[in-house]
Amino acid sequence: QFVDQTEARRLRADLEFRASRDALTGVSNRADLMAHLALQLQAARGTARIGVLFVDIDNLKPMNDTLGHRAGDDVITAVAERLSGAVRREDLVARIGGDEFVVVLDHMFAPDQLRQIADKCLDAVCRPVQSRAGDVDVTVSIGAVLASSADTPDHVLKRADSALYVAKEAGRNQVSLG
Ligand code: GH3
Ligand code: MG
Repeated sequence: QFVDQTEARRLRADLEFRASRDALTGVSNRADLMAHLALQLQAARGTARIGVLFVDIDNLKPMNDTLGHRAGDDVITAVAERLSGAVRREDLVARIGGDEFVVVLDHMFAPDQLRQIADKCLDAVCRPVQSRAGDVDVTVSIGAVLASSADTPDHVLKRADSALYVAKEAGRNQVSLG
């Protein structure tokens, strides 16, 4: 009986964990991102701020077309791993769409600090990936914004997406501060 209870608890925890994860990459999914963002914005007080990076892989469509969809998946997975490795344990990396990621950064106090971490993420990600179809050069574009407790999650994401659009228009492989 005791063992059954323990096993049931373990299975439930495992299910809950998997419900919050993106199946391909293992990072957070959109639902987990929205919950985390709402909590973080609520908790942001005084001068403490949240940084949000909207990250989109450059030209993934042509990569899929030339190397195959599964090699494209390898690129997406590598980007998730590299973003996760570039930020701190308390930050959150989520995959919210095909080739779109959002990073939520805790305790951002100034645009300079945000710029520095966004540049670090760009540098970490923009390196060749060893895909199953061979090495492929990968770059991303990043829209970066600061948010405070006055913001809603939807509004912050919209602002970050607009900054991302500017980075894409400016030629990709760069950070745009919104
Ligand atoms: P851009 O530089 O403007 O971002 O161009 P893009 O080619 O990356 O195109 P966009 O971001 O607009 O669209 C994302 C593309 O990513 C569409 C689709 O071909 C591809 N994609 C979406 N989901 C997946 C996936 O799960 N696996 C793979 N391999 N490719 C995906
Ligand atoms: Mg893209």
